[in-house]
Amino acid sequence: MTSHRPRPRKSLGQHFLIDPNIVRKIMRLAALQPNETVLEIGPGRGILTRALCAEAQTVIAVELDQKLSDDLAEELAGSHNLDLRRGDGLAFPYDTLPWGTVVVANLPYYVSTPLLFKLFDARVRIDRMILMLQTEVARRLVAKPGTPDYGILSVLTQYWVEASLAFRVSASCFRPSPNVGSSVVKLVTRTQPVAHTVHEASFVRVVRAAFAHRRKTLANSLRDEGFQSEPIALALARVGIESSQRAERLSIEEFLALAEVLAMPEVDD
Ligand code: SAM
Repeated sequence: MTSHRPRPRKSLGQHFLIDPNIVRKIMRLAALQPNETVLEIGPGRGILTRALCAEAQTVIAVELDQKLSDDLAEELAGSHNLDLRRGDGLAFPYDTLPWGTVVVANLPYYVSTPLLFKLFDARVRIDRMILMLQTEVARRLVAKPGTPDYGILSVLTQYWVEASLAFRVSASCFRPSPNVGSSVVKLVTRTQPVAHTVHEASFVRVVRAAFAHRRKTLANSLRDEGFQSEPIALALARVGIESSQRAERLSIEEFLALAEVLAMPEVDD
């Protein structure tokens, strides 16, 4: 056991899980197989790491805090399937992950969205992710069109993964307790796309541009982000979307159709 524990660094999102029931619920949801590799971002004091090492073949754990990482290396010295790396989860070489990796993490909330995008970029190597997130972010991941939480994060997440909200976690399950709500989500990488697209980059660009100015109509938001008025009008008409429509009403399929048409050379001129 490590003798001296430094104060948790809130600037690094250090809210440590202290409730073994929550660890059990996360493990049940992860349903790890003995041949699977797990990536954990931010192992902290290792409450999840210990459980992961007991069930997975290998656990790659990336911790930014030097002291926490040193303490964990000492405490889990007997866990021979732990591959502990001191470093930033944002700079981790995701392209080195084995195929079928499972990500299980209580993410540092201050950096959860950029981390999510890193994980999405690496999705071909990831089978599923069980993530503790700020409830507000978790709700955005699973939000449906026409709801206030629906935005870029919802569309892109649901395009790449099947996202479900698993359960909420009370602030009293952490030390120190966070002053935001926490929820666990399950994200399963899609093996079949929602709809076929040959223009994924165009889709991502259109989604980002559509939501860039939330109070404007879709057409105006796209125009303000560099799309030309005429191709926008043509594309909206072809896809059958009213020019007065707002981005938050469009389904993923409609964004995909719009992006396909906008990417066509005769429309893009
Ligand atoms: N997994 C532990 C638990 O459940 O108790 C700790 C979770 S705590 C919410 C987030 C952890 O992420 C902290 O240990 C923190 O030091 C670490 N962390 C913060 N920023 C990080 C980053 N950019 N890359 C890797 N780890 C980071």
